[in-house]
Amino acid sequence: MEIAEKLYIGDVVEMRKAHPCGGTLWTVVRVGADIGLVCQTCGRRVLLPRRRFAHQAKRFVARGSPPEGAADETK
Ligand SMILES: [Zn+2]
Repeated sequence: MEIAEKLYIGDVVEMRKAHPCGGTLWTVVRVGADIGLVCQTCGRRVLLPRRRFAHQAKRFVARGSPPEGAADETK
């Protein structure tokens, strides 16, 4: 899944594997070499390498704002 190619802060992502707390929805809080995620159920923050994130992410539930100047192809 090429999900990590277009990732914005504020995106909400459903993961294939549930967190130990039972939650599967995560908010993207950092986009870099590692992806920062906050569990929406328990509030825990984790960092995932981009490759691992791409493997575990299932789908977007909500999108954050694209960086200024980026073409919006997902309308
Ligand atoms: Zn959790």
